[in-house]
Amino acid sequence: MSLTIKENIPLAPLTTFKIGGPARYFADVSSEGDIREAIQWAGEKGLPVIVLAGGSNVLVPDSGLDALVIRISGDEYSFEGNVLSAHPGCNLLTLIKISGERGFGGWEKLAGIPGTIGGAVRGNAGAFGPEIKDFIECVRALNIKTSEVRDFKNEECSFEYRESFFKKNPEWLITRIILKLLPVTPDESKKISEETIREREKRHIQNVCAAGSYFKNPVAPPDVVSIFEKEKGLTSRGGRVPAGWLIEKAGMKGAVVGDAQSSSQHPNYIVNNGRATAEQVRTLAEKIRESVLMQFKIHLEEEAVIL
Ligand SMILES: Cc1cc2nc3c(=O)[nH]c(=O)nc-3n(C[C@H](O)[C@H](O)[C@H](O)COP(=O)(O)OP(=O)(O)OC[C@H]3O[C@@H](n4cnc5c(N)ncnc54)[C@H](O)[C@@H]3O)c2cc1C
Repeated sequence: MSLTIKENIPLAPLTTFKIGGPARYFADVSSEGDIREAIQWAGEKGLPVIVLAGGSNVLVPDSGLDALVIRISGDEYSFEGNVLSAHPGCNLLTLIKISGERGFGGWEKLAGIPGTIGGAVRGNAGAFGPEIKDFIECVRALNIKTSEVRDFKNEECSFEYRESFFKKNPEWLITRIILKLLPVTPDESKKISEETIREREKRHIQNVCAAGSYFKNPVAPPDVVSIFEKEKGLTSRGGRVPAGWLIEKAGMKGAVVGDAQSSSQHPNYIVNNGRATAEQVRTLAEKIRESVLMQFKIHLEEEAVIL
């Protein structure tokens, strides 16, 4: 067996939340061969396989994971004209920069979303309008239950706001991503990426332990959308209103459970102030959800994944 499987590996340092217990077993996987070996090994031990990538959208339970956790690592990519073929472990920002230098882009508004391109595709990551789905040609995935490998064309990926076929069917592990980019000048691409990152730094809190937006922005009843639009002078996208706005209106901005806090700058970020536990994060999330439900009759759904 060429794969190295380690035991009792702390997962908190591998996530942006910095929360959670250890993985009973852990392996870094880069090739399809590694993944197959890992699946077989876990199957023989009767253990579930859990996928981790950049760790920027996950909450690990305090007790850890009685499983084989496989971390997708790899940075290999290639270009054929404007078509980019990337390993899912590639860092998203690195790919945006490298593409821009080669004169291909269009996706610079996604610059600064932490994590890998595999994680981004799985959650259809987006920012300032564009979503990763807008650039996807095809996604190759391997079924960790049956070992089947399939190529999914964009329209077969069931992309929606922060959703995809892969998110609804976690047994499919993304192993390759093919994107079609637009011609851009390297200077323009660099400029948009840098402006986007600056805008993110202005709008979002930096250097905190969090998993980005904890809840998805929900579709709201027309009366709530109308209050939001009037108050903010903005137009709702697809009838959605920001979860952060609802949380603030429900009086939960800054709310605290132990060391977990709804950020007072960006209420939809649940922040680990130092020693927060997963239990505290979940209790706070539940309180926020109840308050928003009571005030607006809107059910908030997690965007972050509880492993
Ligand atoms: C400060 C901050 C800001 C953020 N801003 C944004 C934003 O603007 N827009 C946005 O959309 N998101 C944002 N996020 C959330 C996060 O960065 C994205 O969801 C990111 O795409 C997750 O990628 P990852 O590699 O870190 O995935 P992980 O967090 O490691 O994994 C997330 C989920 O994807 C699964 N997964 C990962 N790789 C694969 C694969 N190859 N195949 C199948 N499943 C896989 C994992 O099992 C897990 O369930 C932010 C997060 C932080 C911390």
